[in-house]
Amino acid sequence: MPELPEVETTRRGLLAAMQGVRIDHAVVRERRMRQRISRLLPQCVAGLAISALNRRAKYLLIDCGTGTLIVHLGMSGRLWLVDRDTPPEKHDHFDLVLANGKTVRLRDPRRFGLVLWQTGDVMQHPLLASLGPEPLSVEFNGTALYNATRKRSAAIKLVIMDSHVVVGVGNIYASEALFRARISPGIAARRLTRARCEALANSIRETLSEAITAGGSSIRDYVGSDGMAGNFQSNFAVYDREGQPCNRCGAIVKRLQQGQRSTFCCPQCQR
Ligand SMILES: [Zn+2]
Repeated sequence: MPELPEVETTRRGLLAAMQGVRIDHAVVRERRMRQRISRLLPQCVAGLAISALNRRAKYLLIDCGTGTLIVHLGMSGRLWLVDRDTPPEKHDHFDLVLANGKTVRLRDPRRFGLVLWQTGDVMQHPLLASLGPEPLSVEFNGTALYNATRKRSAAIKLVIMDSHVVVGVGNIYASEALFRARISPGIAARRLTRARCEALANSIRETLSEAITAGGSSIRDYVGSDGMAGNFQSNFAVYDREGQPCNRCGAIVKRLQQGQRSTFCCPQCQR
């Protein structure tokens, strides 16, 4: 599933080809996504110039001045550039054909993605309005995390994956950040001290930043072909390493079930 670093890598990869460029037309081949793509969408966007390509949480926001196209990659979506005459394949549900000869194409085999058109202030859209702080923004820090967790008795891993607390911390990066901060994923969130919240906020920031940098090193592949990107997986400390030795202490990395998802941790380093 594309997590925040992959979405940010996508944004950076598409930026130069999209910013300031006019949309010639949009092609909808399959409307049945997580929400149906509006029949009116192609006529709403045709002829508009793209003023910016932004990201909020895992939503890509294609700002067209009078309105914004909101794109979410869902479970299996990928947005990339092809030449205008590249024939679509089976799961290529949506194209944004640009006036510069390029086409931005959405492929999404599982169709959990979204393509929505919103006029006015896009941040007021119901999907965006109640989101918590961006993990790489100044609003997210140890104090913010400490304040957000005081009344939460749920496990800290589940709390940092709650988008009201902080956005964009998915399953992989939650495990990695907790390992880095030496915090047990099962500990009740409200039991964390201010110092540990500080450490965890820093770890979340570092883990995501490093993943974006690793993704950034393969942007060319990400955008141009079908590689799902990033070299970060080779850097996982605990994620998907059940039964292997912890590279900090040598203890065996464990896998737990939390909220129907797998969590990976070192029982010795993380308390
Ligand atoms: Zn360890």
